[in-house]
Amino acid sequence: MSRLQKILAQWLKKIFSDLHAIILGAIFLALIASAGGVYLFARNLWIALTGYMQLPTPLWVTIALVLLLGVCIYLKRTKSHSLSNSAIQKIKYFTIGKLKWKVIIHHKNHHEVNELPLCLKHDLRLLYENYRYFCPEVMKNNCNISFPAKEHYKVYENAKSYIDKELRNKKC
Ligand SMILES: [Zn+2]
Repeated sequence: MSRLQKILAQWLKKIFSDLHAIILGAIFLALIASAGGVYLFARNLWIALTGYMQLPTPLWVTIALVLLLGVCIYLKRTKSHSLSNSAIQKIKYFTIGKLKWKVIIHHKNHHEVNELPLCLKHDLRLLYENYRYFCPEVMKNNCNISFPAKEHYKVYENAKSYIDKELRNKKC
């Protein structure tokens, strides 16, 4: 390459800093290498430049928008991820009759009632065996908390109803 071509190549490198320009620059360099004429180079440069300017949306704008969109999505995901990590805000226990229910309060309008209650008197989680729910102390004849499995749905739904009501009317 001649000195002039080298200067032009450096100039091109300096001027075109984005990806589109680098591609164009490579094409220009190839043209210089093959044709070798300054006139041809200047003409090709002019054609390429006018073509570049006439593009409806320059490539770098598209790239910038895509990158911006990517950053936005990333930030949104990071935010929602940190929110889901702190989702379990509170664990509370509600007493209904002789049972205590564990409730996970995610936020004001979302909570889960654990299906297995605890015996209020003994503070023990009920066991399930032979289609019955019962306090472990029943086996030592120290407790009478025991009900058949078919009643569980009713007991559970009843508890949920009262817990829902209490949470609705109270700010946790
Ligand atoms: Zn008990």
